[in-house]
Amino acid sequence: MNSEFGIRPDRLLPAPGGLGGEFYEKAAATGNLHLQRCECAVWRHPPRILCAACGSDKWTWEPVAGLGRVFSWTITHRPTDPAFAAELPYAILVVELDEGPRIVGNLVGLAPEALQLDLRVRVVLDHRTDTVALVDFAPVN
Ligand SMILES: [Zn+2]
Repeated sequence: MNSEFGIRPDRLLPAPGGLGGEFYEKAAATGNLHLQRCECAVWRHPPRILCAACGSDKWTWEPVAGLGRVFSWTITHRPTDPAFAAELPYAILVVELDEGPRIVGNLVGLAPEALQLDLRVRVVLDHRTDTVALVDFAPVN
């Protein structure tokens, strides 16, 4: 892991293609989380061809501020893969970004039992490869 929160065990990495691949590649290449933004100005995630608001297929990848609030979470006590065992228990968050879309990521920099609804968090990218940066969230200090 290459983030401010230190070394973490190797995780299974996504190997997406198409728009999903572009999502991870854009984050890895720029160091900033990017989401699709329609020509009508509506942000969207996960990546898809058409805008749910207006139906347009005209959009661009644009950087988000990287701030949001905890919308929901689950705490994992058993690893889905042995690579996660050292991190137990860990929290997986659904964060509502200030731009609107909700996105899933791991919690870093805070014990899971300290989580609260609406807690302000910021995006922390975990650069795994040249084409994959995973999305984590840390509390805003
Ligand atoms: Zn639209």
